[in-house]
Amino acid sequence: MKTIGLIGGMSWESTAEYYRIINQVVKERLGGHHSAKLVMYSVDFDDIEALQHRDEWEDLTRLMVEAARRVERGGADFLLICTNTMHKMAGEVEESVGIPLLHIADAAADAIKAKGLRKVGLLGTRFTMEWDFYTGRLHDEHGIEVLVPGEEDRGAVHAVIYDELCHGIVNDDSRKLFERIIEDLASEGAQGIVLGCTEIPLLIKQEDFEVPIFDTTEIHALAAVDYALK
Ligand code: GLU
Repeated sequence: MKTIGLIGGMSWESTAEYYRIINQVVKERLGGHHSAKLVMYSVDFDDIEALQHRDEWEDLTRLMVEAARRVERGGADFLLICTNTMHKMAGEVEESVGIPLLHIADAAADAIKAKGLRKVGLLGTRFTMEWDFYTGRLHDEHGIEVLVPGEEDRGAVHAVIYDELCHGIVNDDSRKLFERIIEDLASEGAQGIVLGCTEIPLLIKQEDFEVPIFDTTEIHALAAVDYALK
C-alpha cells in the first residue's frame, strides 16, 4: 500500500471527511484491521481565508508549496490538496515536489465521463466557479461543458461556504437555496451537478435529487485509495 499525502485544513470540517472516507474504504477493500497509510499537513485556515479574500495568491502559492514539501518529507508517495479552490496553484505545487499530485478536477471528470455525461453544473467558491483553473481544466482536458449559477447565486453559494459550512454550520435555509440553484442548473441543461467545494457534501446529498450529484470530497478520497492500492 502506498502512503497517501494530504494537504488539509481547508477547512478541517471537510478534511475530517477525507480521513474518514479513505480509512473506511481501505478497511472495506482489505478487511481485518487495515487502515490507510497517510501523512497529513493541516494548515491554519484563518491564514488561508484571509489571504484569499485579500487576493494574495502568490503568498497562498508559497504556503501550498511549503505544505506539499512537508508532506513529501513526511514520506508520502503521492499528494492530494483537500480543497477544490486551492487547485488554483496545482501546477506550481506539482512542480515543487517529486511525487505525483492527484488533481481533484481530473478525479471529478473521470466520474462524470464514467456516467457518460458531457455537461454539468458547478457549485463552489467564487474562485472555483469564476476562474479558469477548474472549469477550463474540465473543458479543455476532458471535453466537459460547465454551467455556473448567475452572479447573485454565485455570491450566495460563496457566502454559505465561508460563513457556514467552513464553520461546520449546516443550515436548512441554505440547503433550500442550494436545492433551488441545483434545480435551475438542471433546467438549463446540466446533466449532473459537481459539488466543487469539499464542504458542500455536508449540506447536499444525492438522495434528495434525481440529477446525478458529483461529491468531489468522496470522489477525490476514493481516487486516493485506488491509487494507494494499485
Ligand atoms: N474547501 C473548499 C473548496 O473545496 C473551500 C475552502 C478553501 O478555500 O479552500 O474549494
